[in-house]
Parts: sequence; C-alpha cells; structure tokens
Amino acid sequence: MKYEAFLKAVKYDAQGLVPVIAQDKHSKKVRMMAYMNEGALKLTLETGKVHYYSRSRQSLWLKGETSGHFQYLKSISIDCDGDTLLLQIEQEGGISCHTGNSSCFYRELEEDLPEIKNQESVVAPFLNEESAHEFSALYKVVMDRKVHPKEGSYTNYLLDKGVNKILKKVGEECTEVVIAAKEEESSELVFEVADLMYHLTVLMALKGITWEQVEVELGKRK
Ligand code: AMP
Ligand code: ZN
Ligand code: ZN
Ligand code: ZN
Repeated sequence: MKYEAFLKAVKYDAQGLVPVIAQDKHSKKVRMMAYMNEGALKLTLETGKVHYYSRSRQSLWLKGETSGHFQYLKSISIDCDGDTLLLQIEQEGGISCHTGNSSCFYRELEEDLPEIKNQESVVAPFLNEESAHEFSALYKVVMDRKVHPKEGSYTNYLLDKGVNKILKKVGEECTEVVIAAKEEESSELVFEVADLMYHLTVLMALKGITWEQVEVELGKRK
C-alpha cells in the first residue's frame, strides 16, 4: 500500500491509539506490543526510528530514548480491519523490554494446556513454515497463470492440455524420482523431487485443492 492509503487505513480507538506489535525482522520473534497515536506513526515513518505513545506517561515515546535500545523500522503492515499494526524491526542492543529481556513475552504459563483428542499438531512435522510458504507461493503463481495466461508459459501449456497430460507428467516424474534415488549423489534427486512437487502443484491447482489442506491432513496422522 502507498503512504497516503496506508495512513488512511489505520483505525484508531476512542483514545486515538492503535495497538502495535513489534516483531524481530530476523528471528521473527515477537519482541513487544505497545500503542501508537497518529503522531507516533508519522514520526516513525519519517525517521525510521520507532516511536510509540506511552499510556502511562501520556506522551510521545521514542523507544530507546533513555535506554539507548532504539528500534529501527524495516517494514510495517496493517491488519485486515485496520485496527492493529505489525512492525518488523531491528533491535539495538537486542533488548526490547525495560526489564532487560529481549522480548516482553518472557513469562510463559507453566501449565498443561487442554489436549484435543487425536490432534497433536495440525502442521506436518516435515513441512516447516518456510517450505510451506514456498509451496503456497508456487501454488499462487499457478493459479495466477490460470486467470492470466502468459505467453510461452510451461504452466499454461500444461493447463491447456488438461488433466490427463498432467497426470502423465506426474507419473513420469515419479519414475524419475525413483531412478534419481538410486544415484550416489543427491543433487539429481533434489532436482527430480522439485519437478514432481511442481507437477503435483499444477495438478492440485487444476483439481482445486491447496497445500494447506494437504498440510492439515498430514498433521492429523501422527
Ligand atoms: P526506553 O524507551 O527503552 O528508553 O525506555 C523508557 C521507558 O519506557 C522505560 O523506563 C519503561 O518505562 C518504558 N518501556 C521501555 N520499553 C518498554 C516495553 N517494551 N514495554 C513497556 N514499557 C517499556
Ligand atoms: Zn483477517
Ligand atoms: Zn484487526
Ligand atoms: Zn516489556
């Protein structure tokens, strides 16, 4: 989103504040949560140093002004209904909390949480978040080709040929995985598995199922 539209999309509460989550750009850990008013948001965008609004002191607050633990803004997003901001930051000194902790969320409830029967995890153990994103991203590209065909696109060639062609390719790629798996060297296998996953993604897009559905199904099987 562009600057003007972004500023307009922010929905402040009755006190003129919006909750802000600060996430570490690198570790992805949530470091803290605080509030901004419009002035704090604008100053943050102008200077690149994160400013909040302190409810206890009722004033603008440059994070790090006394501790030196400044936060440098790397990206900013707004949620679906405009009532929360998400920052990705780099943290000076590695400490975000005034208690000296790296994150304000250092106190975890030490209690067994209710277990849901037969559902240990909805996320497949070997599909970590990063790889799941890769498959989803590929899926989106394939879906986009369906709607906006691209000149010379192999995906469009497959989609045009229809499901039987794709099934034939999936079968071929399976065989190639089997052959590559017999090699001493693993690079060929990586290549063939990638080929297979790509063709599976095209098949899935054609049949209207998503990687998220597959992930949930795998997670149920522990
Ligand atoms: P600082 O902005 O780091 O110089 O800290 C100034 C003051 O802001 C501290 O003395 C705290 O009162 C408050 N403060 C700093 N960091 C946090 C935080 N993560 N959460 C809540 N209050 C904070
Ligand atoms: Zn939403
Ligand atoms: Zn929201
Ligand atoms: Zn804190």
